[in-house]
Amino acid sequence: MIQRTATPLEVRAQATDINASWQTLLAQAIRDPETLLSRLGLSLEWLPGAVQGHRLFPTVVPEPYLSRIKPGDPHDPLLRQVLPRHEETLSDDEDRNDPLEEAATTVTTGIIRKYQSRALLVLTGTCAVNCRYCFRRHFPYGDNRLSPSAREEALRYLQRESGLNEVILSGGDPLAMNDRLLAEWVRAFEAIPHIKRLRIHTRLPVVIPQRVDERLLTWLRESSLQKVIVLHINHPNEIDQAVADAAARLRDAGATLLNQSVILRGVNDQVDTLCELSERCFGAGIMPYYLHAFDPVLGAAHFRVSDDEARHLCRQMLSRLPGFLVPRLVREVPGGESKWPLDLGLA
Ligand SMILES: *Cc1c(COP(=O)(O)O)cnc(C)c1O
Ligand code: SF4
Repeated sequence: MIQRTATPLEVRAQATDINASWQTLLAQAIRDPETLLSRLGLSLEWLPGAVQGHRLFPTVVPEPYLSRIKPGDPHDPLLRQVLPRHEETLSDDEDRNDPLEEAATTVTTGIIRKYQSRALLVLTGTCAVNCRYCFRRHFPYGDNRLSPSAREEALRYLQRESGLNEVILSGGDPLAMNDRLLAEWVRAFEAIPHIKRLRIHTRLPVVIPQRVDERLLTWLRESSLQKVIVLHINHPNEIDQAVADAAARLRDAGATLLNQSVILRGVNDQVDTLCELSERCFGAGIMPYYLHAFDPVLGAAHFRVSDDEARHLCRQMLSRLPGFLVPRLVREVPGGESKWPLDLGLA
């Protein structure tokens, strides 16, 4: 039998085996809007707008996340987070490239220090999914890739700053890095006496739960630091059995799991959705932590939910859920000493 070799486009259009390693799932993530639309059986009427958005911030959607999107539904709340749209080319007077003014708080290459007791280390610009509303979509990652000398410099900074007790690994997505490098960083933090806690801000266990493999669990389990993992989940459909199992493995390795979400028009701007999200998180051993009020990111105005509407949604959550399942509604204010809680006032 003569076998025809598949064209590159056909190869990309095929599903990656869900049992593949996380590296393969990441490498073979869908990276063009046409494949994304065709895999979901969606009309190509969405393509021109998607191509426009894609030029500004590339499409990245890994297979395990795609599997939770309902085929044929252009308004699926998970799809809305990852499909580029022509609205991304529109700008609003208030939108800024760096809404949180992080450029001004970079204390040394790769370290953002805004708050007294914790420093945030930007390890990589890579993500396993490109979220269209991302406030880091304009972040100058090119300037923040850590060379060996920058790594030494960053560690010297952490050592010198005895007021710090927590290092936050962020990105991009820090778990996009390989486990050998991550384990080296963690061992270096353990050698600094005033560092008690390691925090990891990541979306990888959600979008590719296969990331939580034995190699990751080994360095995590072995670390003497207290471990907090802050996941990023915006909609209850993002938590399937594989994600719940990955969360259980992380907890077994000694990590406390928290979740932060962003309030997003068309994704989680309904009280039922937000309540279900909290319930599903708790069911998977993940505590709700923050609900971020919308920030004016250039190209993301179509996700905007006003502060008043966000407050109203949170008040309704308070009336339906136990207090521990209601995340704190916060915003980052440039120059603030902490994230700023939005006052819910009286119901
Ligand atoms: C959000 C953030 C933190 C963490 O703040 P918490 O309130 O402790 O979660 C730390 N550093 C920077 C730069 C941040 O943006
Ligand atoms: S995973 Fe996080 S950093 Fe990466 S694109 Fe999504 S929101 Fe932004």
